Amino acid sequence: MKHNFSTNFKSFMKNLLPKSIPASFPKSKKEESEFGKSKKGIIICKKCNAMLWQGSWHHESEIKKNIKKNKYNGFSICPACKMIEDNMYEGELIIRNVNPEIKKYIINAIKNKGKKGFKNDSQDRVISVNDDHDGKMNIFTTENQLALKIARKIKKSFNGTMKVIYSKKESVIRIYIVLQDTKTAY
Ligand SMILES: [Zn+2]
Repeated sequence: MKHNFSTNFKSFMKNLLPKSIPASFPKSKKEESEFGKSKKGIIICKKCNAMLWQGSWHHESEIKKNIKKNKYNGFSICPACKMIEDNMYEGELIIRNVNPEIKKYIINAIKNKGKKGFKNDSQDRVISVNDDHDGKMNIFTTENQLALKIARKIKKSFNGTMKVIYSKKESVIRIYIVLQDTKTAY
């Protein structure tokens, strides 16, 4: 079983990640919860109300039907909330050469992707969007695929070049985007 999972996971990652990232990239922290193998009942995150059911964390709305059938097994903290609490992250996006005139559109695009990500998965979140007011922005996410999705959107919508660097040691993806000079009004 274990072997199958790891083989499937590797091919899954291979299809999903750009070629510059090896298939051996560490799996997302959200899958490594200490409760990951728990199949019994429902555990609630005391910070965000996400619910652990059958080994993964969900929004309450996703498992509504099953809530009645399962008993609550108490409170805990979900991996995303734990990560935020510990000042950890899995994805960092560094955007350079940000034109102040289009900054608000970039922030909107990040927020929209973040909202979508969170809607799809309770563990996928934008942690923070930092702006140094000198043309550089840093965005932190709880999940590396979310950082990639945001990066691709920014690259495409605002005309930039993108470089992905992974740190196997930290299981963190860092994506650098340099926007091209533009006077275009969006
Ligand atoms: Zn939580």
